[in-house]
Amino acid sequence: MKVEVPMEFINNLVNKYGCTQDEAIKAYMDAKSDSEEFFHKDIESKLASLTGKNGYTHKEITPKEIKQHLDKYVIGQDDYKKRLAIATGYHFKMVHRINMNGNDPKIKRFRKKNTIIAGPSGSGKTYCVEVLGDLLDIPTNIVDATDYTEAGYVGKNAEDMVRELVDFAPGETKLEKAGFITKFGGLIFIDEIDKKAKEGGLIGHDISREGFQRAVLKLIERKQISIDSPHSPASQMREMMDAQKGTRAAKKDENLINTENILFVIGGSFQRNVDNLESLVKKRVSMKSGRIKEDGSITVVGFTPKTEKTKPEKLRNYYKEANADDYIRFGLLPELVGRAPIRTYVNHLSKNDLVRIMTNTEDSILEQYKFEFSLFDIDIIFKDDAIDYVAQQAEKSKTGARALVSVWEDILTNFQFELPGSNFKELVIDAKLCKSPQDSLFKMLERSPFMDFIESFKNNTGITISFNKSAEKYIKNYADKENIQVTEAIRTLTKGIDALNYMNYDKEFVITEDILKDEKYFDKIYVNWHDNNIE
Ligand code: ADP
Repeated sequence: MKVEVPMEFINNLVNKYGCTQDEAIKAYMDAKSDSEEFFHKDIESKLASLTGKNGYTHKEITPKEIKQHLDKYVIGQDDYKKRLAIATGYHFKMVHRINMNGNDPKIKRFRKKNTIIAGPSGSGKTYCVEVLGDLLDIPTNIVDATDYTEAGYVGKNAEDMVRELVDFAPGETKLEKAGFITKFGGLIFIDEIDKKAKEGGLIGHDISREGFQRAVLKLIERKQISIDSPHSPASQMREMMDAQKGTRAAKKDENLINTENILFVIGGSFQRNVDNLESLVKKRVSMKSGRIKEDGSITVVGFTPKTEKTKPEKLRNYYKEANADDYIRFGLLPELVGRAPIRTYVNHLSKNDLVRIMTNTEDSILEQYKFEFSLFDIDIIFKDDAIDYVAQQAEKSKTGARALVSVWEDILTNFQFELPGSNFKELVIDAKLCKSPQDSLFKMLERSPFMDFIESFKNNTGITISFNKSAEKYIKNYADKENIQVTEAIRTLTKGIDALNYMNYDKEFVITEDILKDEKYFDKIYVNWHDNNIE
């Protein structure tokens, strides 16, 4: 059969989409629909997805390239990065291919590579997904499971995750946005899924949490859901109008989105006081290797070793060995675990990792500080011993790489406040400065920590105080002895001084050595004043 192809129309498409003539002709030949309007729409959407016009570029990118990109931002966590690169690399290519060859029965349905990720907080679980979402330019919704409830309870429910994802897609209307996801796919990362696990594993029973997991399961399995929140006034209004017009059924169909092309990553730290994932794995592993006591009991020590003898345990990452049964015993639904065939883990970040996060990543926190200070024409230089000191401090916290920000903020806050607009054009940060930032700043500004305390007290309370010579000397000696900053020594030794404010003190108050030596001094004068002045 010979088909006439309107070349003018084809050339217009070539101009509009920057595709080849052959591609435009193929789209024309493949397009089909009952009405002319849909026929044209079909051609346009085929070319839009082929060329990436319409605000989206399908990236022909291999798992290896995805991993290489993640490597620039995320330190360590190789297994997770690799598996995520494979899951997303294949998923979005598959979705794109199905979209292009809609009638190829071979790839009509595919097994999704939904992923479970477990590991300590602040070690890159969410961050990897953020970096990936940016790279692939795919709508990505990162949610916290604890923000959602089971359908029927007050609050957001699991289906809202998909509706929120729709909001992130390009397009003018909700329908267009949903159409984008149907065509190109989307990514949902559900963090803290462990908080929705049944407590106590198989024996425990928690309907609401289990209900949430079931709702997620439905989304992961292919499900049509309405893109309008059933509770929104607009959607209730539309339902009413549709019902009156008798168009309800038809409209409903139009406003549905299928979750088929959405890839799900579910993750969490899987920590809780009793039976956390690590201890469950450990219990199982020790049983296998026969490390059970004679009376048949197994002593499950926490993951972190308490004694020198158990130290090598710290190096063993039990998340790595977690299998489907472990997740089920922790309290995830077997069906949910089954629907997430890829299981991976992240490691606890070592001090060394934290140093690399600061120095070797593309959006390093140090670069950000350099940029921030440069906005006020200040050069900030980080010495190696400072970076080392901060990594050491951060490692002590339980919040992984997140701690880096808080440690740096504690060090830099007052510099961020004082230096802009001053004569200082350079700030060298070394370990000494990190250990006593406030004193270092005062030294730089040639300002006395005593004056600073006096001024700040006056600002806060309106009361004038002063330190006599021996009091100043006593504080300095105390700071030396305790190895703390003078600022901190002042604060410690004058604890309770706010009492002056409550006593409506209106004269100058002179702080002496004797006052500093008496821990209860301010308490006592306040009680005294209270007894004399308050009935
Ligand atoms: P979680 O594992 O709890 O999901 P995140 O991935 O949100 O933690 O990590 C918090 C922040 O710490 C990230 O935004 C990122 O800046 C930093 N971070 C965590 N892990 C890494 C890592 N492995 N490499 C680089 N930065 C990291």
